[in-house]
Amino acid sequence: MAIRIFNTYSRKLEEFSPRDPAGPEIDMYTCGPTVYSRAHIGNFRAYIFEDLLQRHLEARGFKVHRVMNITDVDDKTIRGAREAGVPLAKFTEQFKRAFFEDIRTLRIKRADEFPSATDQRYIDRMISMIETLISRGLAYQAEDRSVYFRINKFPDYGKLAHFDLTQLRSTGRVKHDEYDKEHIGDFALWKAWDEEDGDIGWESPWGRGRPGWHIECSAIATALLGDQIDIHCGGVDNIFPHHEAEIAQSEGVTGKKFVRYWLHCAHLLVDGQKMSKSLGNFYTIPDVLAKEYTGRDIRYALMRVHYRTQLNFTWDGMTEARESLGRIDDWLQRLRECSVSVPLAKTDGQQAGSLPYTFEDALDDDLNISEALGFLFETIRDTNRAMDRNELDASSANAWLNWWKRINAVLDLEMETIELPAEVAKLADERAQARLAKDFRKSDELREQLNALGWEARDTKDGQKITRRAGA
Ligand SMILES: [Zn+2]
Repeated sequence: MAIRIFNTYSRKLEEFSPRDPAGPEIDMYTCGPTVYSRAHIGNFRAYIFEDLLQRHLEARGFKVHRVMNITDVDDKTIRGAREAGVPLAKFTEQFKRAFFEDIRTLRIKRADEFPSATDQRYIDRMISMIETLISRGLAYQAEDRSVYFRINKFPDYGKLAHFDLTQLRSTGRVKHDEYDKEHIGDFALWKAWDEEDGDIGWESPWGRGRPGWHIECSAIATALLGDQIDIHCGGVDNIFPHHEAEIAQSEGVTGKKFVRYWLHCAHLLVDGQKMSKSLGNFYTIPDVLAKEYTGRDIRYALMRVHYRTQLNFTWDGMTEARESLGRIDDWLQRLRECSVSVPLAKTDGQQAGSLPYTFEDALDDDLNISEALGFLFETIRDTNRAMDRNELDASSANAWLNWWKRINAVLDLEMETIELPAEVAKLADERAQARLAKDFRKSDELREQLNALGWEARDTKDGQKITRRAGA
C-alpha cells in the first residue's frame, strides 16, 4: 500500500513519492526550537509527530536524512541575554542543553544535524542568498537600513497559506510600524543593528545587523539538503509567514521547487484552552515529570492523537496514557511467559511474517495513529483472551512478540528495563524486606538513601518500582 500524506500546499491527500524514485533516501527538514526558554509540551507535540513520521518512513524502507535547526539569535534570545546580563551564546547554551535533555526523555530520534543559526557558515550563506535576491529585484534595502523581501515580485507568495494578498495590496508605499517598507507584507531578510542589539551583530554589505528568522531556515535547508527537499514539517503556526517566506526566499534564489510535501501539526490545547503562562497552564517536560509521569507516558500522550487534529492535554489524559502503557506492559509480560511455556493446546503457530500489516497500513494513511493504536489494543484484547483460555501456543506468542518488536521500532514505547547498580539493588532489596516486615521507618530511611544515590522508590500494588530520579 502506498503512503499517503496531506500536503498543506495542495490541501490534498497525496501519494508520497520521493524526489529520487530510484533511491530510498529522503530529505526532511523540521523547524527547531528558538532557545530563549525551555520548550513547552506544545512544541514537543510537533517534534513527536515528526519523529513518528520519520520512523514510519524508515519502517517502510526509506532512509531519512533529517535536519533540525536551532534558532539562537532573534528578538527573544537577544532580549533574554540582555536581561540576564550574559553573552548571547551563554544565554542560549542552557536552553540548547535542556532541549536535548527533553528529546532524550521523550525518546525522540535525533536529527542527523542540529545546525545553529549563528554558525558563521550559515550567516555567510544567508548574506549571499540575500545578495542574490537583491540582484534579482526580489529584495531591497529600506530607509531603516534593513533589507526586505519584495512579495509583489514573487507571484506564488501566499500559495502555501492559501492566503489572499489582495487585501494587503496597497498602492505606493505604506508606513508600517516604524519601518519604511514598500508593502505591508514585505518581511525582513536582514535587520539593521540597533541599540537594543548591544554587541550582537554581523557585518554585511548593508551594514552591521542580523538575519531574519525566515532566511535562516532557507539557508540551512539548502546548505545541508540541497535546493530541493522531499518533506518539510512544522506546526500550523509556522505556515504563515514563516514557511511561506521560506518558499519565496529559496525559490527566489534557486529557481527550483523548494519542497515536495509540506506537513503541519495542529495545536495543542491544555484543558480546552490555549496554553499560556498567564493562564497557569503552561507546561514544560520537567513540569510534567514532576507530577510523577515518565517520559514514556508523555510520549504516548502526545503521540496518540492524529497530528492534524487538535490535541487536548489534560491530567486525566496523562493518567489514561499511563494506564494504556500498563496494558501493553502486562500483555508483553504474559506473552513472554507464554512464549517459553510448553504449548497446552493444539493450535497452528502463527509466524511473525504472517501477522497482519494493519498497523503499518493505518500509518500509511496520513499517519493515522489512532487507528493503528486501535488495532494494537484489539490485538492485546484478543491475544489476552486466547491466553486466558490456554489457546495461545508458544510459537504464536513468539510471533506476536516479534510483531511488537516490529511496530515498537516506530512507537518506541517499551518499558525501559534498567540494570540497577549493585549498591542500589541491595538497598532496594532491604527496603522490600522492611516493607514486608512492616518496618516503615526503616523503609523510609532506605528510600532516602536511594534518593541520595539518584534513584526513586515508588510503592506499587505488588512491590516497589525503582526508577532513576528525574534530572539525576
Ligand atoms: Zn523554519
